[in-house]
Amino acid sequence: MDEIAPGVYVSTADLYTTTTTIAVGADGGCLLIDPAVTVADLAALAGWLSERGLRPAAGWSTHPHWDHLLWSAAFGEVPRYATPRAVAVAAGELPGLVSDVGESAPGHDLTLFARVEPLHGREIDWAGPPAVVYAHDAHAPGHGAVLLPEAGVLVAGDMLSDIEIPLLDLESADPFGCYRRGLELLAGAPGVRLVVPGHGHVGDQAEFRRRVAADRGYLDATQAGADPADPRLAEPWLRAEHARHRERALTARP
Ligand SMILES: [Zn+2]
Repeated sequence: MDEIAPGVYVSTADLYTTTTTIAVGADGGCLLIDPAVTVADLAALAGWLSERGLRPAAGWSTHPHWDHLLWSAAFGEVPRYATPRAVAVAAGELPGLVSDVGESAPGHDLTLFARVEPLHGREIDWAGPPAVVYAHDAHAPGHGAVLLPEAGVLVAGDMLSDIEIPLLDLESADPFGCYRRGLELLAGAPGVRLVVPGHGHVGDQAEFRRRVAADRGYLDATQAGADPADPRLAEPWLRAEHARHRERALTARP
């Protein structure tokens, strides 16, 4: 667990280099963003919190993919939010999401899985520092990144990773357009000093800018039908995703 800014902690699981972000608010209440990913990881998070006299006060799921909708009974019953669109998608795709959990991280209490309610408005309702949602449809519908303006931390969800290329939502009617709009929304977030990707490593302000530029470059090259010289494409599964993106770019061309 790293304290990346005063009162903001990030833990990183071995599985998929998945991050969990914890913002500490008043009286030890915490905002838990995307607690992940295995049963043992969640137990360790709960243990870490209780050892420090901290307790979850609210949860946030950045987007409706299984590894961002997890919860443990040890966190207690607190409001768990996502964007209205993410809540609707999670409900509509629940059987598939549940089977994804069973395949990749078995043993979770499924009665607590994806129990998110829609947040109306842009600020997460909790007794702590402001947490402002940046909603868009890149990567997944209703994706909600969270800016913690006082700490200058942008919790990006599955965007702005140093280890993953932009992963498009190929179910979308306009995956490249949606991705670009989401990316530019995040690029314009004010006062970002640290970026936390859902999978990967925390980056500073310069690294945030570098990742925005790298992701724009990836999208430009892929839409032009090229294979970008992107070091993230070293991973076979990401090359497979890239091939699907290229295919989609070709078929979208007039
Ligand atoms: Zn995702």
